[in-house]
Amino acid sequence: MIGTTQVIPGFSGQLIDPGHPSYDELRAVWNAMHDRRPALIACCRTATDVAAAIGYARAQGLVIAVRGGGHSLPGFSTCDGGLVIDLRLMNQVSVDPVTRRARVQGGALLRDLDQATQRHGLVVPAGVISHTGVAGLTLGGGVGRLMRRFGLTIDSLQSAEVVTAGGHTVNAAAGQNPDLFWAIRGGGGNFGVVTEFEFALHELSQLTVLRMFHEMSAAHQVLGRAQQVIGGGAPDELLWTSFARQAAPLPWMPAALVGRPGIMSVIEWSGEPDVGRELLAALRDDLGPVASELTVTPFRAIQTEGDEFFGPGLLSYVKATFAAGLSPDLIDVVIAQGQRLGSEVSQIELLSLGGAITRVAPDATAFPHRDAGWLINIPASWRSPDDTEREIGWVRDTFAALQPVCSGGAYVNFMDHDEQAAGQVAYGATLRRLRQVKAAYDPGNVFRLNQNITPPDAA
Ligand code: FAD
Repeated sequence: MIGTTQVIPGFSGQLIDPGHPSYDELRAVWNAMHDRRPALIACCRTATDVAAAIGYARAQGLVIAVRGGGHSLPGFSTCDGGLVIDLRLMNQVSVDPVTRRARVQGGALLRDLDQATQRHGLVVPAGVISHTGVAGLTLGGGVGRLMRRFGLTIDSLQSAEVVTAGGHTVNAAAGQNPDLFWAIRGGGGNFGVVTEFEFALHELSQLTVLRMFHEMSAAHQVLGRAQQVIGGGAPDELLWTSFARQAAPLPWMPAALVGRPGIMSVIEWSGEPDVGRELLAALRDDLGPVASELTVTPFRAIQTEGDEFFGPGLLSYVKATFAAGLSPDLIDVVIAQGQRLGSEVSQIELLSLGGAITRVAPDATAFPHRDAGWLINIPASWRSPDDTEREIGWVRDTFAALQPVCSGGAYVNFMDHDEQAAGQVAYGATLRRLRQVKAAYDPGNVFRLNQNITPPDAA
């Protein structure tokens, strides 16, 4: 153990206190809104280290933050004056291409996962920015570009190794602690520290992708078509994402359009490329975008495309909800709020759900929003603190305007720090059972820096 005067018995990792030269680097999280100063950062190497760190924090009365990839938008993976259980040294991924299983340590990033699995032409359906942590994303559900084809990230989860609040290392799987296995599939980081995930793998190495930009005046035409295609029973291989946002300086975007508000669409086909090319070219020709690009892209390339644009250090705030469909009234809100966009990074994101997601029963995991047609995400990101009030105001106004035209509910991973009480909305019908599992595994609410589920008697 090096780097600090503090000692945790049985801890083999690295302890970082405020006097350590790496303290500032290691305490930083993705969202620059959360500039916190923990008393101690425990960089763990093993599940035993995690248990030792939990025991130490509890004995010292320190609040615990758990850091996987550090991308929590509400900043839950850091804290002031407490102990951060930092898993970044635990980022190993091992793949068995024969059994099609991957074992993924609790601090791995999506890029670690993609690198290891794509070597074998295999994939775990997860998120779309490769510096996001596997752990936080999975525990909340995990939406991404393969979800209509292969389901949410949790739908590929086979088992997990979890260190509980009491410092015990347990396995969670369908046949082992099934209540815990159910809860960690959508219930967030409430139940313990996951030190290893086991995922089933799927075959995939490239995507056929149509990217389009339309002026805002074409929003009804484009989003109406999105609804017609997705709502009309599109194949699982097709995923439609549209954004109200300013045209970004992408290689296929004419310079004259950059900065103009409009509708950007990314339509991804995960089946046979020839079929996809034909289908996506027909859509493009019908919808007449002002700029577009149609490519067959290696999966890893598309997974890293947004990494720089959404790089760490941005200030960020988010709200999201679900909609059955993209109704004309909903599209009107998207147009009105899209015209009020301030930052070039902020957007209203319309993500098609359905497909494989709906084939899992709503109560089979702790993710209750299986029947929604679309996830409507409003992530604002900006660079200057001068813009903070404007951007947060824009998200809140957009969210409020969307309420009458959406079906409600919230996604645990796209909620901000001021929405703790709205956890009810995120967990929906699963909340009651989640509280029972919380009472069994964390009755003292040790893991409370998250979209918190309070045990029944603490409520
Ligand atoms: P962290 O900040 O490390 O942790 C987040 C939460 O999970 C905390 O409450 C923490 O306590 C808990 N936690 C972390 N690791 C563990 C562990 N090993 N055991 C137990 N609890 C743990 N979400 C999607 O679904 N799809 C996307 O495509 C997507 N893209 C994103 C892109 C960006 C740039 C960002 C910032 C976020 C994105 N998200 C996406 C949201 C993301 O899923 C959440 O922010 C998620 O919490 C990030 O996980 P993390 O491990 O990086 O976060």
